[in-house]
Amino acid sequence: MRIPLLDLVRQYRQLQGEIDPAMKAVLEKGAYILGENVAKFEEEAAAYCGTKYAVGVANGTDALELAIKALGIGSGDEVITTPFTFIATTEAICLNGAKPVLVDIEPDTFNIDAASIEKAVTSRTKAVIPVHLFGQACDMDTVMSVAKKRGIRVIEDCAQAIGAGFKSKRVGGFGDFGCFSFFPSKNLGCFGDGGMVTTNDKTLAGKIKMLRAHGQAGGYRHETEGRNSRLDEIQAAVLRIKLRHLDGWNNSRRKNAGSYNRLFEEMGKKGGLSLPVEKSGRKHVYNIYNIRSGGRDKLRESLTAKDIATAVYYPIPLHLQPVYSGLGWKKGDFPVSEKACEEVLALPVFPEMEEEEVRFVSRGVIDFLEGKH
Ligand SMILES: *Cc1c(COP(=O)(O)O)cnc(C)c1O
Repeated sequence: MRIPLLDLVRQYRQLQGEIDPAMKAVLEKGAYILGENVAKFEEEAAAYCGTKYAVGVANGTDALELAIKALGIGSGDEVITTPFTFIATTEAICLNGAKPVLVDIEPDTFNIDAASIEKAVTSRTKAVIPVHLFGQACDMDTVMSVAKKRGIRVIEDCAQAIGAGFKSKRVGGFGDFGCFSFFPSKNLGCFGDGGMVTTNDKTLAGKIKMLRAHGQAGGYRHETEGRNSRLDEIQAAVLRIKLRHLDGWNNSRRKNAGSYNRLFEEMGKKGGLSLPVEKSGRKHVYNIYNIRSGGRDKLRESLTAKDIATAVYYPIPLHLQPVYSGLGWKKGDFPVSEKACEEVLALPVFPEMEEEEVRFVSRGVIDFLEGKH
């Protein structure tokens, strides 16, 4: 049995009857940029996230970059985040001329160690970017209370976590901004690149709208320079349809994760394997189901030989990336992140997976652990 990490065509086939006519309608209408689908998607997505506003942008990286810019953060400023995330998070800080300051992660959730944020705050700190990594919310009570106490802004990186919950709220509504990606592999993905910024502040929403369209305040009047970073109409039409299925898909991901957890327990001891942890009061949406194993690379080879696709998110922590070699970080600076990079392995967990496929992957992992490979 060949098991892919993700099968986007399976998802398209399920929705083809809805998606094809919606895309055709956009083509027939002839309004391709910032049309009615973008406006409606923004309303529907804001309602879904429980925020007052949502603004569509070209991708998740731009969402972060524009959010930082809208808060007036730039040269000489510091922004706190973790070294265990996709590079877009720090890229967005650096593209604004600000300096990323890193804080290590919690070993069980892989999210920022919120209790350590305050130690990293200096007089130059302007914001913190908690990344809701792999689909689980950060400890937003602690993040928000530190931010309030020290007077810094909060920009949530929600790229992997649309629909994830912390207590009674969904991510994207805690901080000044929530930044989302609709890259095809995210829980809500379009047929190309797409992104969104959420906020509860009308002025900030207006700033993002201006920045995504060259800083235009209407009628070719430019109050600032922005970007060309719009969500396009065809993607918005697709996202409106997919948004209605998102909770179902997130629940299927949770079900698959639950099946893995149960099968790994049932099929015998977990022999050096750690399973993902869902903290109480949080709803994990499993964009990625990451196990940890000291023998990760051999386990991965064995699964590859069985035609089971896996991935490593992330093999190199940001502080050790060649691009940041000039920033003074060294090996040993963030040991929890470094260890995670050596041990994590993502198993397929996409919503369209059959129970039989989940079993096949679990069997592959257990056989390896029991030496039967
Ligand atoms: C995917 C991702 C981004 C960037 O999104 P793009 O749409 O690919 O630009 C940012 N942060 C995290 C954590 C991501 O996983």
